[in-house]
Amino acid sequence: MVGQRLKFVSRPELDQKDPKVVRWLEKARQLHAANKLTNHYKAKIILAKLTEMFKLKCAYCESYAEQGDVEHFRPKSSVRGVDTHPGYKWLTYEWTNLYWSCPRCNQGGGKQDQFPLVDESARLSSEGDHTRESPLLLDPCQDSPERHLQLLPNGEVVSVNSCPRGEATIKILRLDRFRLREVRRDYLKNALELRDSQPALDLDVLIPENQMFSGLLRQFFRSHPNI
Ligand SMILES: [Zn+2]
Repeated sequence: MVGQRLKFVSRPELDQKDPKVVRWLEKARQLHAANKLTNHYKAKIILAKLTEMFKLKCAYCESYAEQGDVEHFRPKSSVRGVDTHPGYKWLTYEWTNLYWSCPRCNQGGGKQDQFPLVDESARLSSEGDHTRESPLLLDPCQDSPERHLQLLPNGEVVSVNSCPRGEATIKILRLDRFRLREVRRDYLKNALELRDSQPALDLDVLIPENQMFSGLLRQFFRSHPNI
């Protein structure tokens, strides 16, 4: 199983038959057309969809985040280190750019408006095909983190073979913060004890998707089948 490409989270399409979604999309289109930045991106319907999709966990560190933020993967109003960039305003109400994040990962000292690229010359500064950019920050809905990040038994998260995307993600989100490391270590210890007491348990049952750090923990067990 090592090397299997698995995203942490799969993003469902918005249900176009849901009247609340239809109303939200219509207003989003109007605001987008008028180039207006408002907090429509955190309307109740979006909060509900995101918390359901991310199981109330931070998209980045996988901690429970009941009091989380609607986070823009591509920052909406500025890009750190690129003074002339207006921010990815045109993605303010784009469903695929919205994530659920804990304040520690998203706010001061965390990601904020950081969004470095592998190749800065490919950066879009107006509406276009942003999928041609190569972000350094791992995207939990697109990337396979196990190719870039690795959980250690002491709870640390390190990059695989010092890969630049893993290194950048750990630094931007401060995934090595002390408290986070301690809690990850405890969750891994509990999962190892449970596995030892019930060795036949399927990995999905051993580590349910709604558990904190389920992505990293499942990766750990897949890549250490003999521990
Ligand atoms: Zn977080």
